[in-house]
Amino acid sequence: MSTPTTPTQTEDPTQQRPISAVPDKNGWYGDCGGVFVPETLVEALNQLSEVYEKACQDKQFWDRLNDLNRLYVGRPTPLYRAGGLTRRSRAMVADKEQGATIWLKREDLAHTGAHKINNTLGQALLAKKMGKKRIIAETGAGQHGVATATACAHLGLKCEIYMGSEDIRRQHLNVVRMKILGAKVNAVDDGSRTLKDATNAALRDWMGSVSNTHYILGSVVGPHPFPMIVRDFQSIIGREAKAQCLRYLGGMPKAIVACVGGGSNAAGMFYPFVDEQGVEMIGVEAGGRSDEPGEHAAPISHGKLGVLHGSMSYVLQDPNGQTSDVHSCSAGLDYPGVGPEHSYWNNIGRVSYTSVSDKQALDAFVWCSRDEGIIPALESSHAVAFGVAHASTMNKDEHLVINLSGRGDKDVEEASRLLGDQI
Ligand SMILES: *Cc1c(COP(=O)(O)O)cnc(C)c1O
Repeated sequence: MSTPTTPTQTEDPTQQRPISAVPDKNGWYGDCGGVFVPETLVEALNQLSEVYEKACQDKQFWDRLNDLNRLYVGRPTPLYRAGGLTRRSRAMVADKEQGATIWLKREDLAHTGAHKINNTLGQALLAKKMGKKRIIAETGAGQHGVATATACAHLGLKCEIYMGSEDIRRQHLNVVRMKILGAKVNAVDDGSRTLKDATNAALRDWMGSVSNTHYILGSVVGPHPFPMIVRDFQSIIGREAKAQCLRYLGGMPKAIVACVGGGSNAAGMFYPFVDEQGVEMIGVEAGGRSDEPGEHAAPISHGKLGVLHGSMSYVLQDPNGQTSDVHSCSAGLDYPGVGPEHSYWNNIGRVSYTSVSDKQALDAFVWCSRDEGIIPALESSHAVAFGVAHASTMNKDEHLVINLSGRGDKDVEEASRLLGDQI
């Protein structure tokens, strides 16, 4: 229907789906995904699916979102040739013919400092289309909460954020940001008082409030259609990157690397490249302190298929099938589950998944800061760590793209505590 290269036409991502696109109409990505929710939510999810289908046919909707992306978020974000990291990578090997050129997709430059705004603006527009004036969301580190509060302030919607009381204590600055933006922050005192518990509380609220409330889920997780909708809104990252690669490299990169928490920045980056068979894609999970249970947050590397927050995917579980505790130095990767499409890409072998330890991520945090003058988020530092090492195994005439999902201002206290004398 629309031609993506013609600037006057809308850039609706749903008109540009890869041939191999999933999910099926019931939200399954092979053995993963689906809808595992109480009856009261089924209706809300069906309504969301219907409105999204309609929005997909509505040129005005995508024009409005594209305008917001350009004029408010500051898109397109640059694809930046990282000379310093490329030199560091080349210095890791003796062979002078080795060491791919490293590029950074600069989502850290998007408004509010990360990719999360791509999704919250899209979903806030959908809520307006549904006539829902109240928004709720879960947040862990507070990044999704801030991006949601920002979209709501901009579009005139009422906003309530659920956040574990432990996270409220640890992420004070983001709590203040949300309040300044006009959002109400609800403390959750259940369980470990972190992201998983905040998500449960938000789902509970939604069960009683679906008639006037939309729940803006923050990653490519949860019941269908959330993983698909979030992926579509985030796929602007990969669509821009693809056009930028054609312009700067004259073709596709050899490899693409992104960090994986729930998996939204990675899904948005990878999805437009799924049918480009020559492009190797690697998702980097949080390896934490060790491979022992409770010491990491790497569900594809160490989990089993199970149901968490409404869909089937890899989940970190104890021997009784209970969701495990998780650890990562980066709050945004500290989640025991992962989006169903990543589990699917893993199972069909289209994307490979690996993990990087806290220590390796902290080293990369310093490299990127000192080699490039860019302080990356600790989440993104996981992708930088793997990307720099991987580029050193590639040929000099090849190109590797790292998705720099966010900036590291939020992490400077934690990084200086963990790095001590090293900085
Ligand atoms: C939230 C966050 C992540 C992790 O979430 P995904 O859904 O896996 O993208 C990664 N990087 C940054 C900067 C974040 O804020």
